[in-house]
Amino acid sequence: MAYDLLIKTGRIVDGSGMPSFRGDVAVRAGKIVELGKLSGTATRVIDADGLVVAPGFVDNHCHYDAQVTWDPLCSFSCYHGATTVVIGNCSLALAPLRPGRQERVAEFLSYVEAIPMEVLRTIDYSWQTIPQYMDRLDHHVGVNVGTLIGHSTVRHYVMGDECQGRAATPEEIAAMCGIVRDGMQAGALGLSVSRNRGHYDPQGTLIPALWAEEEEIFALGDVLGEMGTGIIQSGGGRDAELKNRLMSRLSEATGRTVVYNNLGQTARKPDEWKQLMALVDESSQAGIRAYPLCTPNSTTQLFTMRNCQLFRGSPTWHPILLGSDADKLRAYSDPAVRHKLHEEVIEWRADMQRAGFARNWYDYMWVEGPAHVQFHGGYGYSTRLLGHWVREQQIMSLEHAVRRLTFESASTFGIYDRGLLRPGMAADITIFDADTVQPLPEDVVHDFPAGGWRIRELAEGIHYTIVNGQVLIEDGHHTGALPGRVLRNALCQTS
Ligand SMILES: [Zn+2]
Repeated sequence: MAYDLLIKTGRIVDGSGMPSFRGDVAVRAGKIVELGKLSGTATRVIDADGLVVAPGFVDNHCHYDAQVTWDPLCSFSCYHGATTVVIGNCSLALAPLRPGRQERVAEFLSYVEAIPMEVLRTIDYSWQTIPQYMDRLDHHVGVNVGTLIGHSTVRHYVMGDECQGRAATPEEIAAMCGIVRDGMQAGALGLSVSRNRGHYDPQGTLIPALWAEEEEIFALGDVLGEMGTGIIQSGGGRDAELKNRLMSRLSEATGRTVVYNNLGQTARKPDEWKQLMALVDESSQAGIRAYPLCTPNSTTQLFTMRNCQLFRGSPTWHPILLGSDADKLRAYSDPAVRHKLHEEVIEWRADMQRAGFARNWYDYMWVEGPAHVQFHGGYGYSTRLLGHWVREQQIMSLEHAVRRLTFESASTFGIYDRGLLRPGMAADITIFDADTVQPLPEDVVHDFPAGGWRIRELAEGIHYTIVNGQVLIEDGHHTGALPGRVLRNALCQTS
């Protein structure tokens, strides 16, 4: 049989978690045809001897909504083996947009995700609706892109400037539900909301989604429940779950999977993760799908005295950050102010016991990827999981880790034709060296429009990133191909 692509004699880790084996993978017309010892001719043969052949990684927590319009690769995820990215997280998306209001919506994304406005002002906003945004991206991307409908954006579309300041009326909630329904019908993977009390706009006001009462969130979630498709993602859901089980209740009421940020250890509350895990166990045993995301990265944040996202919301620092540079200099030079700043943010300096690992923490690990381009990259979570956690720390098998990054991530987000190496599945494939794979040290590049800078993180040991059967990245270099597609939910694909 003639194939388009034949990957020879690799160690096949198929994404299911089953034991790996030595064999070949054949691809034709963008799909996997067969696995095993294969003969037959192929247009292209890749020798994968000594390398792992796995499904492409699914980067499920990204904020490439703006970047994808000028960078179809969605760098740097694809350099770490990601073949799919999910955007529109944390209630922030770039559709729907009203003419003349694009910059306001971009501001929400700018401040929360630390993408400078000078960069966002260069975007060519040629869409208004969610379906138009999806069509704009489709066939102009290197990786596959799944989109979530952002609550903040929808709320701004319906309520205008009043989206920050009050609860929505029943009519406004109905209008938002209509937009969510249209977006889901067009194939969005789900809805994103937020309970992150640290997310402000540049003027220092909480982002629109945070002004919604529970009733509004449940009404939007019910749209997915009624349609029987899609996932709900929540920025900053951890505190809401700890407080009153909001994440679990939302999943139970809608019947949809809810994923939220995040499971992790913080210096301020070093043992809180145990409480959260106890709740996750309880929900899981009750058959409820509400899972916290957990990043394999340890989050260290860079900041400058001009822009320190980390301290936003703290009583003294917050107003200073909203002032001009001259105001900041004046405040920082005042010993009394400096003392207060110190008290506020250093008060919880404590010797922290490293958490180690709970018996089952990784059973709930949904890995999360890049955002906050000027504070930390976070692109290398997959290569860090495979290099640091699997190869060096040996906390789980390679098969298990690959399943986390592929099958489980894809399934959770309703991407059912990817995440496994099986005949008939889309040929999204990552080929890497398990002995060397790791993220490279971060550096700074000025590669954004308008001379914008960001933190770059590349990888070692990722040999090929293959999307829909075409090689996208080969030994760290883009081949020029743009084989990505916008991914649509299962309802959209089957009706
Ligand atoms: Zn986010």
